[in-house]
Amino acid sequence: MPFDPGPEPTTRIEPVPGELTITQLELPPGITFRMGESAIVVGPDGTMVLIDVGNSPHDDEVRAAVRRLNTEVLVPARGFAARAPLQVEWVVLTHFHGDHIGALGDLLDPAGEPLQVTRGIVTRGLVDLGPAIGEGGFQRVCERLRASPALHVPVCAAAATAPCDPVQFSGTYPAQRCDGLFRGDLASASDDGAGAPSFLPLGGGARLVLVAANGFVSDGQSAVAAAPFGHEDSNQENARSLVGLIEHGAFRYHFAGDLTGRGDTGSPDLESHLAAVAGIRWYGPRGVDVVHSHHHARRNANNSRLVDLVTPRDGRARNVVAGINEAYLGSPYAEVLTGFADGDRLAVGWIWATDGAAGGAVHPRLRDAGGPVVVQTVQGGRGYRVQAAGAQLYSRAYPSVAAE
Ligand SMILES: [Zn+2]
Repeated sequence: MPFDPGPEPTTRIEPVPGELTITQLELPPGITFRMGESAIVVGPDGTMVLIDVGNSPHDDEVRAAVRRLNTEVLVPARGFAARAPLQVEWVVLTHFHGDHIGALGDLLDPAGEPLQVTRGIVTRGLVDLGPAIGEGGFQRVCERLRASPALHVPVCAAAATAPCDPVQFSGTYPAQRCDGLFRGDLASASDDGAGAPSFLPLGGGARLVLVAANGFVSDGQSAVAAAPFGHEDSNQENARSLVGLIEHGAFRYHFAGDLTGRGDTGSPDLESHLAAVAGIRWYGPRGVDVVHSHHHARRNANNSRLVDLVTPRDGRARNVVAGINEAYLGSPYAEVLTGFADGDRLAVGWIWATDGAAGGAVHPRLRDAGGPVVVQTVQGGRGYRVQAAGAQLYSRAYPSVAAE
């Protein structure tokens, strides 16, 4: 039977039981003109995961989005188990730049209105720290993680404990191992010795699988390190981004924070390393359905090997989501738009951006949502919808590429 998603929604898509919903938030630059991005994942049973939390002024927006979901959407009247107003099961930090972690200090501050994180905060580990981190709230996040060791889920570990004060990043505390990629179900300690790939359970069989962190890429059995790279350039911190796949039924969504792929000293080519090591085991010949564009659709990321890995040119529709606000000057870059969308690579799919910045390029397959971008599975992952949820709603439905 051909995939029939039913009529297009006329209202904003909200999480429903049994389906996976991923919302890329639109975080305003405000008067301080801050970059920032965050996505909220809601699993089929209401399990909530934040992937990055935006910059220091964005704690209000992220907290409000979490509160609205927990008090108005993930409620018994709509088929979910009751939740606390600020309950979040997991936080995943792709890397330690201010536009991804800046709000976390306030979001966890017990003197304010802290999120109630019940399962864990997944990071690459407090390893390979250096000037590339900048400040951007890192010290507060680091101190908060150290104060709540039961909550911190580091993927990689160094031989010695790094200081949280960035002024003391004289050493780099290199990762010695990334065992955190092979702990099985991260909600359960009993399977940690089995060596299975790590995942966050999202309910209903859906999961967020960890594929790479800090330049260590999983082939399913072991972690393969990239050639060593530095800790000085901001893009070397981007290159350490955590990589994950979010799966529900046949549906798959790829994210990798600000992973780089240009391949010079400043922007190490971790994208080709990902493709070489994780390609067969994790992406296969069909890639994924939806790609979270690396590095806010900037041109030192999303190289041709990455594009071939996640969106192979086979005539099937795929979609790209880009987390951009006005502060990411130049985003989205023309090279990224043409790389993903030229030659009908996405077929009837789109590149969906939360916003465009000054100097950002245009493309016939680019859709500027002027608001959040919502992705939701249909029929347990047989297909999915993407919705631009700004002032004007625009939705499209697609079959999942692995569903046939
Ligand atoms: Zn960023």
